[in-house]
Amino acid sequence: MKFIFVTGGVLSGLGKGITASSIGKLLQCRGLKVSAIKIDPYLNIDAGTMNPFEHGEVYVLDDGGEVDLDLGNYERFLDISMTSGNNITTGKVYQTVIDKERRGDYLGKTVQIIPHVTNEIKERITKVARDSNSDVTIVELGGTVGDIESMPFLEAVRQLSVEVGRDENCTFVHTTLVPILGSVGEQKTKPTQHSVKELMALGIKPDVIVGRASDYLDEGIKAKISMFCDVSKDAVVSAPDARSIYEVPIILERQGVSDLIVRKMRLKPLTKQIDLRTWEGFLKRIIEPREHVNIAIVGKYTDLADSYLSHLEALNHAGAMEDCGVCFVFVDSDRLINEDPAKVMGDVHGILVPGGFGIRGVEGKIAAARYARENKLPYAGVCLGFQVATIEIARDLMGLQDANSTEFDASTSSPVIDIMPEQKGLEAKGATMRLGAEMVNIKEGSKAHSLYGATEVWERHRHRYEVNPDYIESFEKAGWIFTGRCEEGHRMEMGELQGHPFFMATQFHPEFKSRPERPSPLHSGLLRAALDRKKSF
Ligand code: GLN
Repeated sequence: MKFIFVTGGVLSGLGKGITASSIGKLLQCRGLKVSAIKIDPYLNIDAGTMNPFEHGEVYVLDDGGEVDLDLGNYERFLDISMTSGNNITTGKVYQTVIDKERRGDYLGKTVQIIPHVTNEIKERITKVARDSNSDVTIVELGGTVGDIESMPFLEAVRQLSVEVGRDENCTFVHTTLVPILGSVGEQKTKPTQHSVKELMALGIKPDVIVGRASDYLDEGIKAKISMFCDVSKDAVVSAPDARSIYEVPIILERQGVSDLIVRKMRLKPLTKQIDLRTWEGFLKRIIEPREHVNIAIVGKYTDLADSYLSHLEALNHAGAMEDCGVCFVFVDSDRLINEDPAKVMGDVHGILVPGGFGIRGVEGKIAAARYARENKLPYAGVCLGFQVATIEIARDLMGLQDANSTEFDASTSSPVIDIMPEQKGLEAKGATMRLGAEMVNIKEGSKAHSLYGATEVWERHRHRYEVNPDYIESFEKAGWIFTGRCEEGHRMEMGELQGHPFFMATQFHPEFKSRPERPSPLHSGLLRAALDRKKSF
């Protein structure tokens, strides 16, 4: 087992996840099998209950795991599918340890952070490495060195490094900030020195230091970090501002990072030279596209773009295919209640309404769907975005004026969206969510079919409500055709509106399976329709 442990110093938000994903990408491009683990030192069991406003989107995996959005970066960069075991949290670790204690598994011993909690952490890390059968497992430790909550994890990886072989089988990569001060513009190394000192006090000596700064690190600064932090100079790597996150692997490789790690861990890559040509082509289309379209993202978490991260990436992937950049216009859905949508979104070529929970913002999203439908503006809806489109069509095309979802109005006379039958009666106690990948059947000859090119697809879910089957016939009569269905046709998964250039929505979340080389079909459809719209004007 070989591990790369990625820690962070000075402050959070340095792009540690992108650095770790990029290192993984480089090793993968040299023919090595790579897997990844994200450690989140919070007490939540998983990200499922977290507010997107604070933490960004909740990313959903095939197995239904609701995890930190960094796992999305790993899946996108490495084109792998992960499971909830790839996201280790303090909550998961403590829950297992306490369950074991209650069962008497510790045979009367005093249960302690060391060794019981640290053993559980090591157990979870090595399980992923074993099960994935990878040459290298990247372990990213969330938080910043020095935080109380990450101590057990740092101790666990320190122990693990000794057990598997500190020299050959481990690389510690420490990411830090190199700030630039005042008018002189001098890069300062002191914060890096301090955070490395803190790491060393915990028994971990970094092998590679990645210095985040707006620019490349000066040679003198590299030498200084090398001397003060006891790493060789070629192991001090710059992480300057990039034009796109997808540029980071290329920036790191220019500094010889993959060779550095291959040498350090005596890895046996299949290739001596790295082939990043496909990636470079993709990057070029991302940063220098031939043209642009404006896509509105209508939601209630628009103040934090990370809340919609996978959608933004899916549209970027779709754009790269068409050599078209995407300018995102974030629209707080509440604005659409009192303001004229034409004023707010006058210059957009397409609208995306992503998922969401709770009543706030819903009427504005319905207004967005109406504006798109009436103006023949390309529309894509995902999950709640599918449900609001359905409600809008019921209200305006079917004359069911108080049509709603029972999530927002329990006493509506037209509950066109209703709790899933298996969850009925559990609303108050907290119904459980339908989570993870399930097969969706796509109707032949539909637009969905031409986008997917298949009649059976696996897509990820995260919802409690769905289209009420009682209304299916009337919807289809009104032109809202359910071209994607699940479970013998009882569960509506996709809708497309007839007589509209592109008005399509899905109950599932295609954004989570979008990859640079294989963009989400829904997002591609929206992007292409937006391009057509732009050209026709
Ligand atoms: N709130 C809706 C439901 O639970 C939509 C969920 C979502 O958009 N992820 O069904």
